[in-house]
Amino acid sequence: MTDSTPPPISNILTIDVEDWYHLSGLQIRGRGTPRPDILARQLDRLLSLLAEHNCRATFFCLGSSLVNSPHLVQQIAAAGHEIATHGWGHEPIARIGTAAFQDDLKRSLDWLQELLGRPVNGYRAPAFSVGAGQLDEFYDICFEAGLAYDSSVFPIRGRRYGIPDARLEPHVVREGAGRRLVEIPLSATTWLGRQWPVAGGGYWRLMPVRLIVALVTRLNRERRPMVTYLHPYEFDAEPLSATTAAGRSLPSLRHQLRQNLNRGTMYRKLDTLLSTHRFGAVEDYLRDAGL
Ligand SMILES: [Zn+2]
Repeated sequence: MTDSTPPPISNILTIDVEDWYHLSGLQIRGRGTPRPDILARQLDRLLSLLAEHNCRATFFCLGSSLVNSPHLVQQIAAAGHEIATHGWGHEPIARIGTAAFQDDLKRSLDWLQELLGRPVNGYRAPAFSVGAGQLDEFYDICFEAGLAYDSSVFPIRGRRYGIPDARLEPHVVREGAGRRLVEIPLSATTWLGRQWPVAGGGYWRLMPVRLIVALVTRLNRERRPMVTYLHPYEFDAEPLSATTAAGRSLPSLRHQLRQNLNRGTMYRKLDTLLSTHRFGAVEDYLRDAGL
């Protein structure tokens, strides 16, 4: 008789579900219009790819992007994936402060838990925006809100975000009353004496697929999971149009150019990676790692 126990989940696939047209409009001209039709098209393509690989992922859902299209959240959940929260308004915590963050988190959790009829256990901050000086208060709020994990810390020295001296591997940050809060940092790797981001998004658009595959192998050899973050818009078969989202202007055209650069390679990259390495949702990883 063969042992049918599947091998443990060694890498984590996460998707930040937000409406690119809505957020691009907000970012460029201060107002944005959600395009659930386009988000649905992007999600369909991504969900089909994951189904082909029989891969579960964690989807961090943004309240303000999805409040008028809750069927998209239900579609993701019905496909067997884990639903977590990306908060409500996508405003950087480092800017709005922890009190406003607490309200934003509560609003998103109340909405998602009511919609799904079950607890939501994980959080990711907009653009990894929790500051090093806010971490203590931030973790207290997450723990009190009943979360089991956070995945907002990027251990790099970035232009807009990052906590360069943060721990690299998943670790317990709060514990009590039979519960834990685990931090799942985004993946970074050491090269030439500093930390480099390798977790997804724009970095993956620029990296050749063979390099990404080699990095996952390296992280796993160091007994660390690859923790990725991707977005549905990276899998749209159509070009992204910032001029549709925010009108014709230099910032729009620049944003459009940057966001479409190498975007067409993302589908193939994820397809390859899911063939070479085992990925799963955060909750699967935590269970298998005993965290
Ligand atoms: Zn986001």
